[in-house]
Amino acid sequence: MRMAATEPKVSATVDFDRGGKHFGYLGIPHSRNESGWGAVHLPIVSIKNGQGPTLVCTGGNHGDEYEGPIALMKLARALDPGEISGRVILIPALNYPAVMAGTRVSPIDGVNMNRAFPGERSGTVSAMIAHYVQTRILPLADGLLDIHSGGKTLMFSPFACYHRIADSAVMEQAKAAALAFGAPISLELVELDAEGMIDTSVEEMGKVFVGTELGGGGTTTTETVAIAETGIRNLLAHFGILDETPQTREARGLPPTRRMHMPDPDCYVIAEDGGIYEALLDLDSPVEEGDAVGQVHFPEKPERAPAVYRAKRPGTLIGRTHKALIEPGDFLALIAEEV
Ligand code: CA
Repeated sequence: MRMAATEPKVSATVDFDRGGKHFGYLGIPHSRNESGWGAVHLPIVSIKNGQGPTLVCTGGNHGDEYEGPIALMKLARALDPGEISGRVILIPALNYPAVMAGTRVSPIDGVNMNRAFPGERSGTVSAMIAHYVQTRILPLADGLLDIHSGGKTLMFSPFACYHRIADSAVMEQAKAAALAFGAPISLELVELDAEGMIDTSVEEMGKVFVGTELGGGGTTTTETVAIAETGIRNLLAHFGILDETPQTREARGLPPTRRMHMPDPDCYVIAEDGGIYEALLDLDSPVEEGDAVGQVHFPEKPERAPAVYRAKRPGTLIGRTHKALIEPGDFLALIAEEV
């Protein structure tokens, strides 16, 4: 039987319209030297009960970021369908080949999943995953939570985020949802390059997108995993899928969520030199315009003074490079401003 050319080549073993909890996978054709007629099996979980909204939660969009996969697998096992009204679709490892390899981008095709949207029906493995999510999952969603952290090369002060978008009604919903997540920071994020992101696909469909950056360095802490776990449940409660009160940070005896924004691209500090980066400020440090945030040393010329990188605006340092060996074009620091 031949499929119509518009049908995804990816197939799902779960029926998202069925009630109850179902563990299954997306089958992505991947015939290769090691496996003739083979496929990638990408785990997916659908939990549905009664009537209500649908929240889709993804982790492992980048394969070296771990809070999402950990928190979503724990939730998938723990959540009882009887607890919810509506539907939760969990994809703990959106770029499954990358998660299994511990790499940011797919080891199969070198593609960054968060630049692969809306995908291609008959493209590479990453493009087929994106195409399936774009055409079969996102239309089911009222909102999407994509859990990121910094991966092996970046480190963030934990935040939930939404984007400044043209549709102000949807933006206000996303802003409220990001705040309900209850991370230490809620950030109105301006991307360096938004084309091809799942975020952009969700927003272009007029749906609520919430993202996170919860830490980084290719590992987790007890704090960042706890933020993810609490945040997901808070978001489910915010959508009315879980009948419980979101746990605010104040209720947990923590300082309230700090609301921040990025007024312009000067929030990013980008390397123009290659060498060894010495951070001069730690995360959460307040900065004034002109403050040195770090400097690049030149190991081939010890007599040469380092190149100093300065904040182009005041604010708080909430992101930095985690790696020290820097090339021109590398991200060095992110400065956001308290609202
Ligand atoms: Ca990421």
